[in-house]
Amino acid sequence: MQKRGSVPPDQGSNDPSRLDACYASDETYESDTSYETANIPRSTASCKLHAETIIVGGGVIGCAIAYELTRRGHEVLLIEQNEIASGSSCAAAGMLAADSEDFTHPVIAQAALESRALLHSQKDQLSALSGMELGLRQSGFITPFRSYSELSRYKENRRSSSLTEQIWWDRNTVQREAGWLNRDTYGAYYRSLESEILPVSLTRAYVRSAHRMGAAIWEGVKDIQLIGNQLGVQGIATPKGNITCKHVIIAAGLNGETLLQQARIDLPTTPVKGEIAAIQFPADQTAYKPDRTLYAEDVYIVPKANGDVWIGATSWPGKKDHSVSAYSVQRLLGAASSWVPGIKEAHFLRAWAGVRPSTPDGLPYIGECENMPGLFTAYGHYRNGILLSAVTGRWIADMLEGKRAEEIGIEALSPNRLNRKEVVR
Ligand SMILES: Cc1cc2nc3c(=O)[nH]c(=O)nc-3n(C[C@H](O)[C@H](O)[C@H](O)COP(=O)(O)OP(=O)(O)OC[C@H]3O[C@@H](n4cnc5c(N)ncnc54)[C@H](O)[C@@H]3O)c2cc1C
Repeated sequence: MQKRGSVPPDQGSNDPSRLDACYASDETYESDTSYETANIPRSTASCKLHAETIIVGGGVIGCAIAYELTRRGHEVLLIEQNEIASGSSCAAAGMLAADSEDFTHPVIAQAALESRALLHSQKDQLSALSGMELGLRQSGFITPFRSYSELSRYKENRRSSSLTEQIWWDRNTVQREAGWLNRDTYGAYYRSLESEILPVSLTRAYVRSAHRMGAAIWEGVKDIQLIGNQLGVQGIATPKGNITCKHVIIAAGLNGETLLQQARIDLPTTPVKGEIAAIQFPADQTAYKPDRTLYAEDVYIVPKANGDVWIGATSWPGKKDHSVSAYSVQRLLGAASSWVPGIKEAHFLRAWAGVRPSTPDGLPYIGECENMPGLFTAYGHYRNGILLSAVTGRWIADMLEGKRAEEIGIEALSPNRLNRKEVVR
């Protein structure tokens, strides 16, 4: 493991103003995290720091952006206040539910399909660069129904357009293909392209790959301040000193709103707490274990590459604590075992909670803030940030390279869309 603050062999620079020039100093932060690539100078007083692009936030979105930018040859500094993947990204189920989610906005519906495909195409490079297994599997999702009337109600309520790839399984097919499902199941949709991934592994693989390609990664940097005015963003102030830059990308999830308030830009988020329970099937019960994700209306059951089965998720708008209630675990396990009776014999492993970053219109804020050129937002992905990470990285990189949101087809996601209210100090 590389010691925090040491310079990787392939990371040197002769330019003293470059961030990684400071890494050679022994004056480095020590931290108790096992994350091996962070490098932060103890003091920047003797160094004039500059980065082309600063990304604020080390969740899946910030890390995907760091990966895409460094892959294209950009100079990147990613700043995380805690540890990589310590926010919403470490709580996710990791479903890439591009067909199963009821996306009503055509931009997101299309982006979800693209992003799922992009994640599959990135997998080999990410694994090779990071040395990590992502647990990415395409085993398809099953959406089951108990009766014809339940199916009819589902069809009536579904708002999204016809992008969905799916086939209908009748009762006999369900029993043949998914013998672990309740025998009373009337039928199910099977969506064969649906996939799932280990979300923390993905996030770390993105950031490790970015670091291998030259990105600087600083963890444990709290209380940053944006520096800029109507002419543009100029950098950030950290407790260790100021860093100048050309672009700042706010990928801070739920905390993006607070950071943007520093520039008097109002892009609100609402927390939506969710809880997940993990179980494991004993060796003699594996015949009753789901081998594909069950994506029902009341619960999802996701068999993961690490052998666990994750059952989620509750949804509590307005809540942002990380406690898990007995009531929620009971509800999740009750709903799950009504679909998969074998769950009653499984071992309970653990449960956790996370907070999804939701926005008033349900769309993430992605793009450049018109009142502070060079300041970009990439947050508010609500319940699909893992799925949309790859495409978000690509969008931001395209925009930094001069493409306009209209050219990419994402003007609907613009951070300037909320009544164009922003006022810069
Ligand atoms: C229970 C649950 C289940 C989910 N299931 C799925 C799923 O199956 N599929 C899916 O696609 N999505 C799922 N999601 C949603 C997904 O987890 C989020 O959309 C995604 O993780 C958001 O990523 P992010 O990088 O924007 O935010 P985060 O992961 O929260 O990362 C933001 C980071 O920014 C850092 N930060 C904040 N402020 C600062 C600052 N001032 N300075 C420096 N750093 C800062 C934070 O510490 C944090 O690490 C789920 C979420 C939950 C809670």
